[in-house]
Amino acid sequence: MSAGGRRTYDIVTIGGGIGGAALAKIMAERGHRVLVVERERQFKDRVRGEALAPWGVGCARDLGIFELLRSDCGHMLRYWNIYAGGQQLMSRDLFATTPQEAGWFTYYHPTMQETLLRATAAAGAEVRRGAQATDVRPGSPVLITIHEDGGAETVEARLAVGADGRSAASRRLGRFRSEQDPSRLLFAGVLLDDVPAPEDVFYHVAAPGMGFVAYVFPQGGGRARAYFGFHKDTGLQRLQGETGFSRFRDASERIGIPPEFYGEARPAGPLATFDGADSWVPHPYANGVALIGDAAATSDPTWGQGMSLTLRDVRALRDALLSTSDWDAAGHAYAAEHDRHYDVIHRVDGWYADIFMELGPEADARRARALPLAAQDPTRFPDPPTSGPEAPHDDAVRRRFFGEE
Ligand SMILES: Cc1cc2nc3c(=O)[nH]c(=O)nc-3n(C[C@H](O)[C@H](O)[C@H](O)COP(=O)(O)OP(=O)(O)OC[C@H]3O[C@@H](n4cnc5c(N)ncnc54)[C@H](O)[C@@H]3O)c2cc1C
Repeated sequence: MSAGGRRTYDIVTIGGGIGGAALAKIMAERGHRVLVVERERQFKDRVRGEALAPWGVGCARDLGIFELLRSDCGHMLRYWNIYAGGQQLMSRDLFATTPQEAGWFTYYHPTMQETLLRATAAAGAEVRRGAQATDVRPGSPVLITIHEDGGAETVEARLAVGADGRSAASRRLGRFRSEQDPSRLLFAGVLLDDVPAPEDVFYHVAAPGMGFVAYVFPQGGGRARAYFGFHKDTGLQRLQGETGFSRFRDASERIGIPPEFYGEARPAGPLATFDGADSWVPHPYANGVALIGDAAATSDPTWGQGMSLTLRDVRALRDALLSTSDWDAAGHAYAAEHDRHYDVIHRVDGWYADIFMELGPEADARRARALPLAAQDPTRFPDPPTSGPEAPHDDAVRRRFFGEE
């Protein structure tokens, strides 16, 4: 308790998603007093990321959570096959060609969250479910107001971590300024059962020139998360609700998802469509409040980078906090590192959008140059979204991808 009679913590995470739970677990294991405030009593399917890129697998290993997820709920996809215009553009053995020797790692998001939060509590963190952070007063200490069971309590922390996802209140509460890309892409997802598709392949179908993309990420046992992405100018209405699945399936099959992949498949959760535009806070630390994961930078889900970025944030914040007792300096060091790794992924995602999703004659001309070259030599595909922000990403990489060298 503080002199003012408030409960005190080293760290309070606002949100117990993959970011908040992973950070809380690691810092509790290091002996810190940690509170996780999580709004949901029970997680349900919010149509979120269920495929962790190989570089995210590397982060999960560094953080000591990969084995936990693998044994509890995970499934590994060794191959990544890309098809465009009815032709196979690429079949990549990710175990053999990534520095992490890993594929795309899939799981049901609500189960992953439950698994991590259980481990977080077992590591000694206090986890409050059905509790919502409603106010944050930045400073030293930070004051966080929590509503729970009809009552309100204000607690104190050395560091508050906004890990509350894509519509993060912590941005506003922490007095942060955010930026956003112009809207360009939309992205829909649905969970399916009884999917007879091969279970070791991330199946990626692009319809260059039409502004469509479809993915199937098997999770094992006949379950798969299917996504459909589209350019806002395609005229396609948002895919959602109970009647949306037949349109989702038609649209996916029309661009090349083999009809036998879906067979007798049936939705096992809601179908929802999201705006793709990135939205981010430059330098996501100030005055005792750090933002991580989607709260710091919500990346376009079309490129499946959000959870890897989130785990990279957790790693960067952990390393900064463990390196000094001056947590204000650590917060600024974290924010600088976040900006570096997010900037690489954001920039390279934009190149993929230019090649695969952009509409119009200029984009068609770019594709006509780029795609035949990439089909002959898949190393022309920039690697940061697969292997992480350390993979080459300079302008020579962009020119090689665009066939402009
Ligand atoms: C359609 C779609 C597809 C995606 N596909 C992929 C993919 O294939 N691969 C990938 O890597 N990423 C993907 N993502 C992104 C990925 O889901 C996110 O990057 C990731 O979930 C972010 O984790 P987080 O912990 O920051 O936030 P979240 O997972 O959103 O967790 C935030 C938590 O905070 C809680 N919360 C919110 N407000 C409060 C509050 N005031 N008080 C207390 N608790 C609160 C919420 O209940 C939630 O549990 C996708 C996203 C979408 C929308």
